[in-house]
Amino acid sequence: MMSKVGTISSTKSTLDKHDFYIKKKYGQNFLVDQNILKKIVQIPSITEDTLVIEIGPGLGSLTEHLLVKAKHVLAYEIDKDLLPILKDTFKTNKLTILNKDFLKCNVDLDIKELNIDYDQAIVVANLPFYITTPIIMKIIEESSLIKEMVLMTQQEVAERLTSKPSTKDYNSLSVAIQYKTKAIIALKVPRSVFIPAPNVDSAIVKLNVIENILQKPKSEELFYELVRSSFAQRRKTLVNNLYNKYSIEKEILINLLIELDLNPRIRAENLSVSDFIRLSDILYRII
Ligand code: SAM
Repeated sequence: MMSKVGTISSTKSTLDKHDFYIKKKYGQNFLVDQNILKKIVQIPSITEDTLVIEIGPGLGSLTEHLLVKAKHVLAYEIDKDLLPILKDTFKTNKLTILNKDFLKCNVDLDIKELNIDYDQAIVVANLPFYITTPIIMKIIEESSLIKEMVLMTQQEVAERLTSKPSTKDYNSLSVAIQYKTKAIIALKVPRSVFIPAPNVDSAIVKLNVIENILQKPKSEELFYELVRSSFAQRRKTLVNNLYNKYSIEKEILINLLIELDLNPRIRAENLSVSDFIRLSDILYRII
């Protein structure tokens, strides 16, 4: 379903000129509230030497604020119809726009190809909701240059990213994110500040990559796989979920948990990040 953006007064003439249509398939919910935009750009630690990476600049409402604060903005926009609008709106060499699917790019290479000096690279984005998790995981797993992310996500996702063990929102995403970053909810954002308004409220999460991870699993691949399979069926015990995944005898699994000082009837939601790392290292030894 497509609807025309004719109501955003500040950009109306540009939009009419370009005859632009909102594309739901790209998760296009445009931020149109200047007060919220001003609050959002205060959250990342941007200085005049910062390179900001924006995923999905859309009509450029957030980009405009980022350009004021940062040294340079590198923006990825998948929708080619938005490129002429962005180029018309911003006539500055502080902005590089790439018409690319962020999920398919090599972000560190694109950053290096800018050939500019900067002291830190920060992602700031009002994310397309349909690919929030893959985008965050891609940055965490593939980029060694990005150290901070300030992201608009659905409120529910923001709560999962930041939730602690033994709470209802704690899941495999919470563990994976909190292994690599310090995650906080920085701002709650009502649905009414977007056009079109989504069905749910949003929140800004701030993720700071932990520079020196003190406790690292022997195999990160096994760690992530273990975390995912431990939560496969949330109401089942950890032993039952692991039995389904690894076909290791239940008695052996129970002994492993005892070795780690964990209750043999424990569920994944009760394990800390550190517990998962210790368990993954024991599994690494035996599988
Ligand atoms: N930043 C704008 C704002 O705040 O108004 C737009 C945010 S809108 C929620 C998400 C934007 O991401 C849209 O412009 C959409 O076209 C773009 N987008 C969606 N999927 C993308 C992808 N895989 N790579 C790059 N951009 C994408």
